Amino acid sequence: MKGMMTKPKLRKYKTFCVLCKEKKEPNYREVALLSGFVTERGKVVPKERSGLCATHQRKVTLEIKRARHLGLLAFVSGL
Ligand SMILES: [Zn+2]
Repeated sequence: MKGMMTKPKLRKYKTFCVLCKEKKEPNYREVALLSGFVTERGKVVPKERSGLCATHQRKVTLEIKRARHLGLLAFVSGL
């Protein structure tokens, strides 16, 4: 999934949270959404890279852990 590359120039660095913008909440059943926040090796993308706010970063991490536990996401993939 390729994100939008149009980035307006901002004076200050502003964290851009996709989940806040889309008014979405992460859910363990939304594997397609969660997999966007997991590296190809199965690690959770750090918030510097994911661009999520602290609240959503924590929620995403939690939901990824749930999804892993249920076998929806792999702990380690691409081996
Ligand atoms: Zn957010």
